[in-house]
Amino acid sequence: MASYYFACNLPNNQKNMENMVTALDPSADFLNSKHADYQVEIRVKIDGKAVTCQCKIDGLKQAEIFFYDPELTDPCYGLGEVERLQKEIVRRGIVELFSKIGRKKPPWGILTGVRPSKIYHYLRDQGYNSGEIKQKLEKHYLLSPEKALLLTEVGEVQRPWLERTKNKLNIYIGIPFCPTKCFYCSFASYPLETHAHLLKGFLEALYFEIEEIGKAYQKTDYSLASIYIGGGTPTVLDHCQLKSLLAHISQNLPVADLPEFTVEAGRPDTLDLEKLKILKNYGVTRVSVNPQTMNPRTLAKIGRKHTPSAIEETVKMVDQVEIPCLNMDMIIGLPGEGVEDWENTLEKVLSFKPQNITIHTLAPKRAALWDFSQVENQVKEENVSRWLGQVYSRLKTKEYYPYYLYRQRRIIAGQENIGYTLKGWEGIYNILMMEERSTVLGLGGGGMTKWYDPLTLNVERFPNPKCPATYQGRIKELVEEKVNKLLRSVD
Ligand code: SF4
Repeated sequence: MASYYFACNLPNNQKNMENMVTALDPSADFLNSKHADYQVEIRVKIDGKAVTCQCKIDGLKQAEIFFYDPELTDPCYGLGEVERLQKEIVRRGIVELFSKIGRKKPPWGILTGVRPSKIYHYLRDQGYNSGEIKQKLEKHYLLSPEKALLLTEVGEVQRPWLERTKNKLNIYIGIPFCPTKCFYCSFASYPLETHAHLLKGFLEALYFEIEEIGKAYQKTDYSLASIYIGGGTPTVLDHCQLKSLLAHISQNLPVADLPEFTVEAGRPDTLDLEKLKILKNYGVTRVSVNPQTMNPRTLAKIGRKHTPSAIEETVKMVDQVEIPCLNMDMIIGLPGEGVEDWENTLEKVLSFKPQNITIHTLAPKRAALWDFSQVENQVKEENVSRWLGQVYSRLKTKEYYPYYLYRQRRIIAGQENIGYTLKGWEGIYNILMMEERSTVLGLGGGGMTKWYDPLTLNVERFPNPKCPATYQGRIKELVEEKVNKLLRSVD
C-alpha cells in the first residue's frame, strides 16, 4: 500500500485529490505528514480566462495542465462554477502526473463521483448536444471512448424521464433486515438471526410514518411517480407482516394509479408463491430477484443460503403470478470467480428473460464482513474490464440497452454498475434516485429523503437512521420534519 502526502495551494481540496488518487491507486493511503511514500505538490493559478495547474511528485516528475476558457470571467460563472472547474483541473493534473509514474488513466477519467451521469445532464442543460458532450467527456473529463459513449447513451435514455417526473414525488421505504448478512454487503442490513427482536417495534414506527406522510400527501396536489420498497430484503417479512405493510401503503398512498411499484425481493430464500401473490394483489409492478451468481460454491462462500435452482423456482413463480417487470442483479468480481462463472451466470439470467438486468462490479467495502485484503483468488482487473465491454455488446444483441449507472469508491478495475432494460421497462425509481432530479421521500430504516428544487436544481437531504431501534426512538421528530417540508412546499 502506497501512502501520499499533498501540498496544495487551493483550500478545501484534500478530498478531491484523495478521490482522484484512489481511482488511480485503489490501495492508496493518505498521510498528513511528509513521511508518506510520495509527496505530491499542486499549484493552481487563475489568470483572467486561463487556469493552470502545476503538479509535481517527489519534486521530480512534473505535469502541467493549462485550460483556457474565453467565458471564464463571464458573471454567469458563479463562485461555485469556478471552484468546480478548479477541482476538475486538479484532477486532470493528477491523472497526467500519475501517467508519468506508470499509472494507467482510469476508464472514467476525472469523474470520481458516484453519479457520472449528472455531469451529462448538467452539460445538456447548458445547451450542448449529445455529440458535443461525448467529445467533452473524452477531452476534458478524460473518459475512455467506451465510457463516453456509454454515458451519452444512458443520458439520452434518461432525458425524457427527468422531464416527465420533475414535479412528482417518489417514495422509498427501507426495511433494513435480511435473513443473514452477505459477506460483501455494506448496506443497512440487520440479520434476522440476531435482530428479530427489533422488527415489531420497527414496523409499528414505519406504519406511523406511512400514515402521517399519507395524510400530508393528501393535502397537496403532487402525484407519485414511483414507490420502491428496498432494504435489506423486504420479503424477509412473514406473510402477515408483508400484507400489513402493503395494506398500510395502499390505504394511505395512491397505489392504484402508480406508474411503478417495486419491491426488492432479492433473496429467493425469503420468497414463496403466497408472498408473491400478496405483492401482486397490492399492486406491485416490479420485483427484483437477485442471484448475484449462479455458482453454488460462491453462493455458499458469500453467505447466501439459497441455491441456483431456488432462483429458477422463484422466477417461475414471478411469471405465474404475473408481476409485469422482473429485474435480476448479478455481481462481477466475487472472490474465486472468473470469466467462465460470469458467462454462466449471465447466460442463465438471460434464459429467464427478465425485463431488467443489473450488472454490478464488486466494490470491496470496509464496512463489509469480509476483510477483502485477506480474501484469496483476487479477480484479474483486465478480465473484468474486457468482459464488461463484451457484455454490453452481448446484451445489445438481446435488445437490452443501458438506462442507468452508478459507481462506487474502490470498485474493481475502476468500472461501474449498469442497469440494462428491454424497451419500455426502464426502472423509473432507479433513474430518479440516481440523477436526483425528482423528490424522493425516504421512509423506514436508512430511508434518505432528497428534496429536489426544479428551479435551483438543489437537493436537500434528510436521512432516517439505519438502526431500527434508533429509527423507532426518533420517529416523531423524523416524521415531523418531512411532513413540514411537504406542507410548506405547497403553501
Ligand atoms: S441481501 Fe442485499 S442487503 Fe441483504 S445482506 Fe445481502 S447484499 Fe446486503
